[in-house]
Order: sequence, then C-alpha cells, then structure tokens
Amino acid sequence: MTSVSRSLLLRVVCGALIGGALSGCREAPSAATPPGHTISGSTMGTYYRVSLPALPEGMQKAALQASLDSKLDRIDALMSTYRDDSEVSRFNQSRETTWFPVSIDTATVVTAALDVFAESNGAFDITVAPLVNLWGFGPGDREEKIPDNQQIQDLLETIGSRHLEVRLEPPALRKHKEALQIDLSGIAKGFAVDALATELENLGLRNYLVDIGGEMRAAGHKKNQTPWNIAIERPTANQHGIQTTLPLRDIAIATSGDYRNCFDVDGQRYSHEIDPRNGHPIRHQLVSVTVLDSSCMRADAWATALIVLGPDRGKALAERSGLPVFLIVNAEPDFEEIESSAFAVLPHSP
Ligand code: FAD
Repeated sequence: MTSVSRSLLLRVVCGALIGGALSGCREAPSAATPPGHTISGSTMGTYYRVSLPALPEGMQKAALQASLDSKLDRIDALMSTYRDDSEVSRFNQSRETTWFPVSIDTATVVTAALDVFAESNGAFDITVAPLVNLWGFGPGDREEKIPDNQQIQDLLETIGSRHLEVRLEPPALRKHKEALQIDLSGIAKGFAVDALATELENLGLRNYLVDIGGEMRAAGHKKNQTPWNIAIERPTANQHGIQTTLPLRDIAIATSGDYRNCFDVDGQRYSHEIDPRNGHPIRHQLVSVTVLDSSCMRADAWATALIVLGPDRGKALAERSGLPVFLIVNAEPDFEEIESSAFAVLPHSP
C-alpha cells in the first residue's frame, strides 16, 4: 500500500473527515463550483487543488500543472519523513552534532518552526518526531495501542527544540543531542501552499485559491468577482458538515483537528497532535483550530500549537499574539465556537 493510500485509509478508519477547511466548491454540488480551471493531484499523503479563474496568458494547463508538481515534488524530497532519502530523514538518521548542510527551503521552515516554538512556549515542537512515531502517527505501521509509559518517558528525554539550531547562511541544521529528530508535518504543507502561491504570482496571476490538504491561500477573487468562500468543517465523525464559511481574499488559512488522524481505545480518542510536555496525544475538549495569517506556513504551525495548548491557554495566547483564530470546542451534545478578537471582526456566516 502506498503511503498516500495508507494515510487516506487511516483517516477513514477513525471516522474523520479529510481536510479542515474546505473550499466551497468541494462541499457544494457542481452547480456551485466556481467557473474557471482546477489543477489537482496528490502530494504529501493528501490532495492538492489549485483553482484559477483564468490561466496565465499563453500557458497550457498541463504545463502549469507540471510546474506546480515539480515544486511539490521538490518539497516532498526535502522535507518528508515518509521517505528515507529526504533531506530531513538524512538529518534524522545522522548522529553528528556538527552543522548539517540543508537547502534554504528546509532551513526557512525550521527557522519558522523554532519561532513558533518560542512564541507558543514549546507547544509547537518539531523535535516531537520520535513520539509521533511511537504513537503510530508517523510513516511506520500503526498498531493502535497505547505505548509503554517508560518508552514515552525515555523519548521525552531526547526531544526539545532548544537542542536544535538553524542558520540561513549557509543553510544548515545542528542537533545538540545525537538522537534528536525533526518532523515538519505540522508546518511544511503550509510552506508548500506559500510556494505554489509564489509560483502563481511570478506567472502574473493575482486571483487563485491554493489548497493542500485543507491548508489554503486565497488571493483576489473568483471568476465572478466574488471572494473565495472557505468553509470551516464541522468536526463530526462520519458526517460532512460545515461549521461556518469565510469569504477570504489575500490571506492564508490553516486548520488542525483531533478528528482527522486518530484512533480510539476504550472510548478514549488518541490523536496525532502530541503534547511535547508529557509525550501524550492531546486530551481536552478543543477539537478544531483555524488560524488566518499572511503566511500559510505560520498559520499551519500556529494551528498545531494552539490545539496542543487547549481551549483556555490557546485562546489566551491567540489574543496576546493578535492572531485571527476560530476554535471549536466539544461541548456535547453540541459544539461551542470561540473566536479571538481579531477573528470576530472578519466577515463570516454560520
Ligand atoms: P497538522 O495539525 O497540521 O500537523 C500535525 C502533525 O504535526 C502530526 O501528524 C505530527 O506529525 C506533527 N505534530 C504532532 N504534534 C506536534 C507538535 N506538538 N508540534 C509540532 N508538530 C507536531 N503522510 C502520508 O501518509 N504519506 C506520505 O507520503 C506523506 N508525505 C508527507 C510529506 C511531507 C513533506 C509532509 C509535510 C507530510 C507528509 N505526510 C504524509 C503527512 C501527512 O500529510 C500529515 O498527515 C500532515 O502533514 C499533517 O497535517 P494535518 O493538517 O493533518 O495536521
């Protein structure tokens, strides 16, 4: 089974929906699909889709797709932990504590990750990789069982972004502990969205929607001059629903949820969002976090950081940081919505 099909299977097994924020055209029947062009495919264990009112002048759709695919393939080859030969995997395999040369792209993503690590008081921590793997949310097989507590404690000793250094000139990473490993799954999709957007901008396009597995950037407007309508998914298992929709223009949006990639044991949900303080999957009622930012890379990382922090600390930090954030809390039998002040002023509809 390919890693792509494995990922999709895992998501179906735990009854989760794929994609946190959905473009309106994905949820709605074809009549509501905005006219124009769609370029789509698979990448990074999920889908990608680029919606364009018009193609770049003189460019065929196939040529544009080839150019976007090559960007995505490059990022996958650099940052995937699902292939042994990627730059990140080679860094993880290395036991050297000297500078390890990497591409400027990987160094840029790690720099942003360390920034969010500091700003989130350690909630977003890319060195959580061994614990992601131990709980079965990495590239290996998933056993769907709770790991031994001693193993968790032992791995907690090996992690911590304070043991990781990055430099941009020349680009390189350095680990202070031989066993340190990184996992960019919580940030690299956002980087890839930004990279595709930059490519489109370089081709002169100002109206587009880029979507990689639910992380998106909306620019300009649809063919009918209206803003891109982004739906935030209702975090219910086995049901597709929309919690709210946002008309967005010139901004990126990313969602993290505990309902997409998870397994249940004795009625307790174990999700892929790992709390680096205790080495366990998050255990609170905050089930979905959506963050808007000019950078999809930062929005992606912040969504993971805030869902790790939970409803109270997450909301408080979003307020302090001035981030537009939409939180969905499981308040059975329904969901409670929490909006940060910066989000509340945005136009949206229930
Ligand atoms: P997000 O909330 O954005 O990220 C959650 C992920 O971040 C977790 O799954 C974990 O990996 C990591 N994480 C957990 N806790 C923390 C924390 N506290 N701090 C920081 N990070 C944390 N999947 C496949 O099945 N097959 C593939 O071939 C494949 N290739 C990939 C290649 C690349 C380059 C990348 C970036 C990811 C790939 N994935 C692949 C992973 C898959 O797409 C992930 O499910 C996805 O990146 C997680 O995104 P999300 O939006 O579901 O969750």
